[in-house]
Amino acid sequence: MLQRTHSAAGVLAAEWVLHAYHVPLLSWDTAGALLLGCFAGPLADIDKPGSVMAKLFFPVSSLLRMLHIHHRTMTHSLLFLVLLATASFPIPALYYSTFLLAYASHPLIDLLNEQGVALFWPVRTKIRLLPKFLAIDTGSRAEDVFCFLLICLCFWLPAREWWIGWMQLAMR
Ligand SMILES: [Zn+2]
Repeated sequence: MLQRTHSAAGVLAAEWVLHAYHVPLLSWDTAGALLLGCFAGPLADIDKPGSVMAKLFFPVSSLLRMLHIHHRTMTHSLLFLVLLATASFPIPALYYSTFLLAYASHPLIDLLNEQGVALFWPVRTKIRLLPKFLAIDTGSRAEDVFCFLLICLCFWLPAREWWIGWMQLAMR
């Protein structure tokens, strides 16, 4: 999937966490979590040469290349998610949950891609959730539609929250 699709999924994951933590819509925490979600969503593609994340963290992406870690393997695996969860444990709960959920959204939606993900790396078998004819190819029209739906949800969730809050105020 493209970076914009992963960013949209990351923002959606952040919104979910913000809802669970009852964080007010207009707050610095909301802004921080949304930014973190937008950034953590595409982060797993640090293993993809030429991607924005690989360029941004070029020492890490160069190291992955030197170690022959291929795209959609280690950084997209459950094992790496567990390591990341352990390593980022000291950060505050809201940002910790946002980071992990946004990061986890990446391999989750890559499972819809026709190339699949080595979710159980170091086992190299790539897993895909959809049959090939239904799978979403990177950069395809189907991905455009999928990304559009994610962005719609990103707007709908806070709008719904705001509407419910406003209605509760009006009913008092
Ligand atoms: Zn990926």
